[in-house]
Amino acid sequence: MKRIQRSIATLSVALTLGMSGLAYGQELVVYSARIENLIKPVFDLYTAETGVKVKYLTDQEPVLLQRIKAEGDNTPADLLLTVDAGNLWHAAKEGVLHPVDSEVLTKNIPEHLRDPDQRWFGLSVRARTLVYSAQRVKPADLSTYEELAEPKWKGRLALRSSKKVYNQSLVAMLIKEHGEAKAAEIVGGWVRNLAAQPFADDTKTMEAVVAGIADVAIVNTYYFGRLVKKDPAVPLAVFWPNQSSSGVHVNVSGAGVVAASKNKKAAIAFLEWLSTEKVQKIFAEANLEYPANPSVPAHPIVAAWGPFKQNRINVSNAGEFQAVAIQLMDRMGYK
Ligand code: FE
Repeated sequence: MKRIQRSIATLSVALTLGMSGLAYGQELVVYSARIENLIKPVFDLYTAETGVKVKYLTDQEPVLLQRIKAEGDNTPADLLLTVDAGNLWHAAKEGVLHPVDSEVLTKNIPEHLRDPDQRWFGLSVRARTLVYSAQRVKPADLSTYEELAEPKWKGRLALRSSKKVYNQSLVAMLIKEHGEAKAAEIVGGWVRNLAAQPFADDTKTMEAVVAGIADVAIVNTYYFGRLVKKDPAVPLAVFWPNQSSSGVHVNVSGAGVVAASKNKKAAIAFLEWLSTEKVQKIFAEANLEYPANPSVPAHPIVAAWGPFKQNRINVSNAGEFQAVAIQLMDRMGYK
């Protein structure tokens, strides 16, 4: 509750500041689980190009979702911007997002990266892939997510906590692909192969590989990008698993128009603009992610990891199978 009160205070300040700028013209309000650093440059650009002022409130996704629901018809929010398809799926299921029939969005955003019912659209792609010790592992030793469950990797695997939605989404997609029994076998194998208790974040997970505690980790690419940016000589490398089968597990950050928005037309125009080539480049590069729009090249640090085949199963399945995934991980002792 304290957190929500603090959020309300933040929004009031943001709204007041906004009013002192353009007293005329259109305004949009974005509730964003993506942090200020990553969104403000893009929002400022939109204001510069169109005169439309973009105000925003940042917080954790569950807080924003709860808030939109509590505000009901009175919500000032026009768009919800968040990470992970599991979260977007939840927002849609709660009924707070409005379906958008847009040729621009369906053209710019590949089908597997958007809601089949058009209530949200991926805006950047993060691949949850393998990062390995360049000193102790040869790329030829690696092949698939599934193979990391084999005894060969005993005491060599580093994972982030199962409490993080990224891993819940990864396991949800394994369930979608293989069914629950096989997915449980894979997760059980991972747990047996852990080099240490699961880590609190992706960076710590990779640091365990650098420190020699583990040999291979499953992490989101942009965290690896951050490590490389800090230390280009970091003795780790990216491996793209499942290239001759399902492809690399991808997830999105994305957005949808709020069902109770009073500015739906303007909100849709903004969402469409976010999917265009120039904006996609800025939006993805800010976090070293892949643009969701496939015609936009990735940042050079990201492009250096080479092309890869993505898993084309719709990312909405991350939400669909999330509850089952959480239970499965718990059952298999994945902390
Ligand atoms: Fe993240």
